[in-house]
Amino acid sequence: MQEKDEKLMEKIISLCKRRGFVFASSEIYGGMAGIYDYGHYGSLLKDNIKKEWQKNMIQLREDVVGLDSAIFMHPKTWVASGHVAGFNDPQVDCHNCKSRFRADHILEDFGIQADKATLEFINDELNKLREAKKLLCQNCGKACLGEARVFSMMVKSNLGSPVDILDEENIVYLRPETCGGIYLEYKNTLDSLHPKLPFGIAQVGKAFRNEIAARQFIFRTREFEQMEMQYFHDPVDTNSIFEMWKQIRYDWYLLYGIPDDKLRFYKHEKLAHYASDAYDVEYDFESMGGFKEVEGIHARGDWDLSQHSKFSGINLDYYDEANKKRFIPHIVETSAGLARMFLMFLDNAYTEILSEEGETRVFLKLDPKLSPIKVAVFPLLKNKPELVSNAHDLYLELRKEFMCEFDDNGNIGKRYRRQDEIGTPWCIVVDFDTLTDDSVTIRDRDTGKQERIKKDEIAAYIKEKMN
Ligand code: ATP
Repeated sequence: MQEKDEKLMEKIISLCKRRGFVFASSEIYGGMAGIYDYGHYGSLLKDNIKKEWQKNMIQLREDVVGLDSAIFMHPKTWVASGHVAGFNDPQVDCHNCKSRFRADHILEDFGIQADKATLEFINDELNKLREAKKLLCQNCGKACLGEARVFSMMVKSNLGSPVDILDEENIVYLRPETCGGIYLEYKNTLDSLHPKLPFGIAQVGKAFRNEIAARQFIFRTREFEQMEMQYFHDPVDTNSIFEMWKQIRYDWYLLYGIPDDKLRFYKHEKLAHYASDAYDVEYDFESMGGFKEVEGIHARGDWDLSQHSKFSGINLDYYDEANKKRFIPHIVETSAGLARMFLMFLDNAYTEILSEEGETRVFLKLDPKLSPIKVAVFPLLKNKPELVSNAHDLYLELRKEFMCEFDDNGNIGKRYRRQDEIGTPWCIVVDFDTLTDDSVTIRDRDTGKQERIKKDEIAAYIKEKMN
């Protein structure tokens, strides 16, 4: 594992705040742990990641359709899925400083795999560490960590009448994952669009988890977005379909500039009782000192549809006309966290260069498709109205097609630096020649190369570079 670069995380957090990407929520009231707001550039970057995911997962596929299901679902949904009874994490408290930790994460720090382990196993392992005097609080350093206890991650709401919500069975939850909505709309999708197996339903949306220790900036938060796809298929095809989606999802990261050597698969050894295979796609976060999960790919069997069929009393069979057989489709899911990808792209793109003047310059070398602003237009001089109005007119034209900025503040060098720092791939300068030959200088963020092109060729130039 590479050494943890604590400074990189600090630099990313500072850039995010300084340049309006990400803010800690409710700051003026003292903040709320594990909740974040996305500012102008952050919301654009997040939308671009989402759009590219949707493009690859829906637009470019004939076998996947979209969905936007509600956050609230019938209370039975989460009883059927097993979340009400079992969506728990093991929690450990420090009796000295009152910090709270995930017990499985503490064990993982000692190289003990405890993902989905029983509470008994976790407490046995904690005891061994305690006896060896190795079990210290990561916050205060004292040997004051208690026993592990289970902690439900479900977030309750008070939707419904005050009488109803006192009744356990009527508690409405904020969804802990988006796929619940996909299972509930499997039948409507089948009845309205008539897809043949295998087919997928994909959606992006909010999920809520009462995480014990929300930490590492936006890596683990209590409110987050997931990009999930459930692929319904005949169980005879599970192995090949699972391999197909592993490959497709891995290739997606390469497509947006994540290097192969910063990616790997992690195979889950301990599986949920209904699952037949599970892998995580892990990215090597320099800001967190090593590989961490960004996406899960799971073969879930027929668990989800069988459970919802049982609890709702509605038949969720599929009739395969070609083979004259009836069965409950099995599911392979791909489940990625949008904010984790956001952090992954920042981690990968953040670049510092020491200039000849000894100044540190920051570049966000994002794939142009993801960059919040595609092009910035500058007049060479601020005090020449003919340059300013020519550049501004060009900006008004280009913004019809791309997210653009106009900037006439400070010298050109400073304007380039402001754009480099937010990842703008192209900057355009309108100068005196532009007034006579309708050409501009376009400068590339990563190479610094400048080209002279005609104004009416700019849009085609950018589109070609982005494809
Ligand atoms: P972890 O082990 O990190 O808690 P998980 O295995 O519970 O994650 P899944 O339930 O498989 O995660 O969720 C799929 C994806 O959703 C994860 O790969 C991650 O990218 C994202 N995700 C899960 N929990 C969070 C969270 N609290 N904050 C941000 N993203 C999350």
